[in-house]
Amino acid sequence: MLLDLSFEELTEYVVSLGEQKFRAKQLYEALTMGKTLEEISNLPKSFKEKIEKDYPKYEAVVHLKSKDGTQKVALRFPDGSIVESVLLKYKYGYTVCVSTQVGCRMGCKFCASTLNGLIRNLSAGEILAQILFYNKILGATLKERQVTNVVLMGCGEPLDNYENVSKFLRLVSAPDGINISPRNISLSTCGLVSKIYDLANDGFSVTLTISLHAPNDELRKTIMPVANAYKIEDILKACDYYFEKTGRRVYFEYSLISGVNDTDKTIEELARLLKGRQCHVNLIPLNSVKEKNLLGATRKRAYYLAEKLEKLGVSATVRRTMGEDIEGACGQLRNRVGEKDE
Ligand code: SAH
Repeated sequence: MLLDLSFEELTEYVVSLGEQKFRAKQLYEALTMGKTLEEISNLPKSFKEKIEKDYPKYEAVVHLKSKDGTQKVALRFPDGSIVESVLLKYKYGYTVCVSTQVGCRMGCKFCASTLNGLIRNLSAGEILAQILFYNKILGATLKERQVTNVVLMGCGEPLDNYENVSKFLRLVSAPDGINISPRNISLSTCGLVSKIYDLANDGFSVTLTISLHAPNDELRKTIMPVANAYKIEDILKACDYYFEKTGRRVYFEYSLISGVNDTDKTIEELARLLKGRQCHVNLIPLNSVKEKNLLGATRKRAYYLAEKLEKLGVSATVRRTMGEDIEGACGQLRNRVGEKDE
């Protein structure tokens, strides 16, 4: 579909249809504004007929608004795949949390996205569409974009879909497109080591966030199957390399699961592991997922542990939880294809 194409590729496409080059600019602008084919007024009917089969088609099948201002949308693509994305409102602007896969195959014990395994990868344009959707409803224009930040923290493991995700990173930061700077993009991964090196070598200086959730491999293996494939030690080496290449401080996500990874002893071990690194730890009490038998730590405990980490020399904060009432909070996004809502 056309959202997968850069401006240069779109120009080639337009020329290959026997159309004039300037049509590419009009088309690119319409795509960037999230217009439907019917909403485009400056393209002739004959041209629209030629591009109809390639024009992006997605519709919002669910659109929920939380009492804290967070919104969640489920977009359906023509093959019936449904992806969820979340809009978060901060003081400085809007952030969209995008999904990178339909489902996920990483199998983390606490996460809803992985309940039905991986259905398929999203294309670069399908990831981009999630941002364009929100820009459009927020009334963005080509000059004034509403969404300023993106986090790849929805359904899926971004580095398990590297080709499409890296293409997405190029599209979203294209100056003639929605032009979101890599500095305003966070990519969260459970730690696929070789892909972290690829990301660094390919020159993407996004903020890298590692879902760590445990200070040692033994404990990590009990909650994250990916820990059987990659050691923490090797993840940290890859993070060092990423820092060297990009100068960007690495973030660690640590979801606090009551009685599992939130004891004082475990957090002290985490401090020993991370002390002296250019990094920051985001603590977040686990959000409940009804199919999972795990409980989040209290926020009080989270604040206590953040303070403890700081005292032990590791920069840490407690992440705000947003959109919990619409199941839009971290780890609550799920693939609902074929599933009936209760
Ligand atoms: N696959 C990527 C993106 C996943 S979602 C990754 O693993 O990083 C973003 C974050 O939410 C990850 O840190 C993930 O571990 C965390 N998460 C998943 N389920 C959660 C839950 N129920 N409560 C809190 N955080 C959760």
